[in-house]
Amino acid sequence: MTINLKQNDLSHVVAADREHVWHHLSQHKQYETVDPRVFVEGKGMKLWDVNGKEYLDAVSGGVWTVNVGYGRESIANAVRDQLVKLNYYAGAAGNVPAALFAEKLIEKMPGLTRVYYSNSGSEANEKAYKMVRQIAARHHGGKKWKILYRERDYHGTTIGTLATSGQAQRAEQYGPYPDGFVMVPHCLEYRKQWDVENYGERAADAIEEVIRREGPDSVGAIVLEPVTAGGGVITPPQGYWQRVQEICRKYDILLHIDEVVCGLGRTGAWFGYQQYGIEPDIVTMAKGLASGYAAISCTVTTERVFEMFKDAPEDGMSYFRDISTFGGCTAGPVAALENMRIIEDEGLLENTIRMGERMLANLASLMDKHTVIGDVRGKGLFCGAELVADRQTKEPLDEKRVQAVVAGCLAQGVIIGATNRSLHGGLNNTLCLSPALIATADDIDRITNAIDSALTKVCG
Ligand code: PMP
Repeated sequence: MTINLKQNDLSHVVAADREHVWHHLSQHKQYETVDPRVFVEGKGMKLWDVNGKEYLDAVSGGVWTVNVGYGRESIANAVRDQLVKLNYYAGAAGNVPAALFAEKLIEKMPGLTRVYYSNSGSEANEKAYKMVRQIAARHHGGKKWKILYRERDYHGTTIGTLATSGQAQRAEQYGPYPDGFVMVPHCLEYRKQWDVENYGERAADAIEEVIRREGPDSVGAIVLEPVTAGGGVITPPQGYWQRVQEICRKYDILLHIDEVVCGLGRTGAWFGYQQYGIEPDIVTMAKGLASGYAAISCTVTTERVFEMFKDAPEDGMSYFRDISTFGGCTAGPVAALENMRIIEDEGLLENTIRMGERMLANLASLMDKHTVIGDVRGKGLFCGAELVADRQTKEPLDEKRVQAVVAGCLAQGVIIGATNRSLHGGLNNTLCLSPALIATADDIDRITNAIDSALTKVCG
């Protein structure tokens, strides 16, 4: 059935939504007084809701996903053709798009060789954690079972991945959590924890301190976002990644990079880690992988990691004893293949670098006018503006006013985001911009102009 709505059906849709849909991240009480926002259509950077109101989407579908923009017929056609040929087969067998996409992906990831399919970022990370645990069981006599994660980073919504949530608010009320996940300090230089010259190296050394405290024999892996997303759009300080890599090598700790947000062009390269010279053992990705045209995630590993599951097959346990039912859907890899072709053929990585520089420069110039902007940071089309009540003390701006700025942009037809409340001083105070990689200079200027007006209205 194709959904074809007439104008008078739309109020019915809103009522059905209000009565029956349990929205993500929403206070449902608000729908007693305000209609839920329900979108009908998207094209490029634009969205239309049931009332016909047009929006410029500066967050790629709410959570930095629609990297190539809305309404891509070539992806829809590729998925349609594949679905009528073969929609699905899972378990111990492959399918054509899965093989071809894995090959194409690996071309972009020198040093990595194996692709494990599932459906969401959380699931991709869970798979990686399970790999680490199984490697510990098989190769380290049960040692090296701990996984380090970083304050302010986020890796998913399941109980296992929430055990690695560096954002306290997200994990509250869902515990107790499994053992063996240990937090290391964040590396946000704007909120310095050490008064030193080489901040990047110092922040990385803090990881080594945790490893020594826990015992290097007990630590199997560390999971890190190349640029922290929801925890405040945190770009790493100079020297940070080089030192992190050295520490991982020194203690034989697997480096797992979570590219769920940064992957597939968001930061202006295929993957964020490639801009910092990192050589990971495991890379996870989801969101922009098929730009939301189909659900797909991947856990990509080196051959060395893959080989660790091949020892002693006679015991019947020497394989990664895991499955993902919908990892066998062909829509994901076929959409991902076309998504990648678009990024390549339309030069979207280059556009991301150019437009990202413009967005960062626009935000930086707003700092002269709005003292409420404490810091701006970003990489590619992934920028944040941290709002503070006082530049000297860096006291975060209260959540009400931050949300009023977001609402002020929405009233002008521009959708922006704000980051989640996090542990240790990081409140919900960073405006977040992650438009599709097709953004033009006009789009960027309209987004930052909307922020300018909203800030003037809310903060004077
Ligand atoms: N990792 C990161 C860095 C994320 O930002 C997210 C989602 N916001 C996830 C993992 C989890 O992805 P999903 O919601 O697809 O499970």
